[in-house]
Amino acid sequence: ASAVEIRNLDKFYGPFQALKQIDLTIPPGKVTCLIGPSGSGKSTLLRCINFLEEYDAGEVRIDDQLIGYDGPGRKMSARKLRQMRRSIGMVFQQFNLWPHMTALENVAEGLIRVRGLGKADAATRAAEALRKVGLEDKMQNHPARLSGGQQQRVAIARAIAMEPRLMLFDEPTSALDPELVGEVLQVMKTLAGEGMTMAVVTHEMGFAAHVADQVAFMEAGELVAVDSPDAILHNP
Ligand code: ADP
Ligand code: ADP
Repeated sequence: ASAVEIRNLDKFYGPFQALKQIDLTIPPGKVTCLIGPSGSGKSTLLRCINFLEEYDAGEVRIDDQLIGYDGPGRKMSARKLRQMRRSIGMVFQQFNLWPHMTALENVAEGLIRVRGLGKADAATRAAEALRKVGLEDKMQNHPARLSGGQQQRVAIARAIAMEPRLMLFDEPTSALDPELVGEVLQVMKTLAGEGMTMAVVTHEMGFAAHVADQVAFMEAGELVAVDSPDAILHNP
């Protein structure tokens, strides 16, 4: 079974059709990069996977389970949607950290609030996640005392601490100064090497070329090609 099956997906913003009949399989344990011009629908497609955007037709299945709807046109309960989203981590262009909390507290918060862990257990697991992204020395720093690259690594730690089965990255390096991009891509590459299922919207062609298992190329709301990085990136 595939991690994510997207079938005949349509998405409208008012009269504007942002996604047109998208068919895409995201295989488990692999990295899928979504590339294409700005405005082509990459972010919308990614956000449909965890139902941050409601799609209008077609379906998205996560591990064979339909997300967002219980059946045709019948939206699932908020509770069931929350349940399904628990297996999906997401990292955005903006890091969205709480400024008044340390790196450790930022990562532990979800474990306490969403997973119901006690403070001590949450702190232990948060520390592990921060070690994994190379921030063992910065756990007590507040975001203002971290570089953009470090803040994004905290955001990745926050997501992986929840032990997701699938990670979605929406232009995770686009808000960073160029010299900080590499450290974030390196963490993502490590995660990929551990067999995490990943879908990544990115403009980093080096990452797509070297780390992706498959590349999906979008244009004007359509998925125009899905193939190996070699096939897509060397035959533009
Ligand atoms: P990409 O990620 O490829 O840059 P997006 O998925 O962000 O593209 O956007 C696809 C298209 O949908 C664009 O034309 C964009 O202007 C439009 N769009 C995105 N979000 C909204 C929204 N909330 N309301 C109306 N139009 C939107
Ligand atoms: P770009 O060419 O877009 O600047 P980078 O060269 O920074 O991209 O590489 C992006 C990611 O791909 C980094 O994580 C880097 O480790 C990895 N990478 C780059 N070149 C290779 C390679 N030859 N083999 C494996 N991984 C690579």
